[in-house]
Amino acid sequence: MSEDFYDILGVSRDADEDEIKAAYRDKATDYHPDVSDDPNAEEKFKKLQKAKEVLTDDEKRQAYDQMGHERFEQAEKRGGFDGGPGGSGGGRGGMGGGPFGGGMGGQGGMGGGMGDIFEQFFGGGSGGGRSNRAQKGQDLRTRLTIDLEDAFEGVQKQVSVRRPERCDDCDGEGHPPGTDSHTCEECNGRGQVTQVQQTPLGRVQQTQTCRQCGGEGKIYAETCSTCGGDGTVRKEATLSVEVPAGIQSGQSLQMEREGAPGPNGGPNGDLLIEVEVEDHPDFERDGDDLRRQEPISFPQATFGDTVEIPTLDGTVEMDVPAGTQSGETFRLKDKGMPRLRRRGQGDLYVQVQVVTPESLNDEQKDALEQFAEAGGEEVSVDEGFFEKIKNSF
Ligand SMILES: [Zn+2]
Ligand SMILES: [Zn+2]
Repeated sequence: MSEDFYDILGVSRDADEDEIKAAYRDKATDYHPDVSDDPNAEEKFKKLQKAKEVLTDDEKRQAYDQMGHERFEQAEKRGGFDGGPGGSGGGRGGMGGGPFGGGMGGQGGMGGGMGDIFEQFFGGGSGGGRSNRAQKGQDLRTRLTIDLEDAFEGVQKQVSVRRPERCDDCDGEGHPPGTDSHTCEECNGRGQVTQVQQTPLGRVQQTQTCRQCGGEGKIYAETCSTCGGDGTVRKEATLSVEVPAGIQSGQSLQMEREGAPGPNGGPNGDLLIEVEVEDHPDFERDGDDLRRQEPISFPQATFGDTVEIPTLDGTVEMDVPAGTQSGETFRLKDKGMPRLRRRGQGDLYVQVQVVTPESLNDEQKDALEQFAEAGGEEVSVDEGFFEKIKNSF
């Protein structure tokens, strides 16, 4: 059970500095090891001192309030907390914009960022300072190419990824089971080394993983030959992924916990699969809409017709009205792509291209000539004139 500093001093959470000092003086008299006969006096006195020290320092108190007792104590144990460069908010590397800098602003900024800020401030910023506590593993990325039909229907696909996995031969320990070990002299078994650096902004204490033992605190007599001591080996894993209908190029699918294993028994990272949808020879995609071009004959454009249009979901009939010009576009509602994880579909836009015949037989020439003669004038034509032209093609 950890004891809250406010409780130890017996003050409220909004007590000001004077109240805290007064409370400290009262209690300190009771527990001072020189005057008290309480067997735990020394320990209680130390806690009291600690509580006063933290709560009368604005920066430390702010951090304490934000983190809560336990995380604050953990952070201190990891040795990173030294008040830093006087909380100027500037500072070097990861220090800048830490919890005491300008970056935090209101409480709204706390969101999910606390872990990072915590890490930045106490971890020393430069990627060092990792302790041997459990951490989430790295996210891995891979790509998957599918065709437009698959994106239309949704599809189950296999993806292969080379990823680090726990070494079976040493069970992830990095050394054969039962190997002799001794405490690391470099860090005295702490797994971390603390360096104090003098910077223009003040004294900065930085804690880094011990290089000698890699943070384990122990040196083993033998290393696992399979993984070279890493505890992980790279293996090809094949996974089955559900690609949802409507997916677009550049979108990623996340497979939780399929990434790299977490150090020190932490959870696996995630696998992010970036999907690429191949171009289609007949359909051009525009978000959820599709476009295609459809050749129609000169008589179809002239007299109108019903034409068969291939879609990604079978063939549909489309009415081409009489007098259609080449390049005109018609919309087939809901014949486009399904909307990703939503109801409904986009539309299919069909642009018609009127094909001019390259060669004509005599009958066709004859019919066209009659058509040309009749065109532009108010003439009465034989019954079946248009039928004749239309049918001759
Ligand atoms: Zn060490
Ligand atoms: Zn191994």
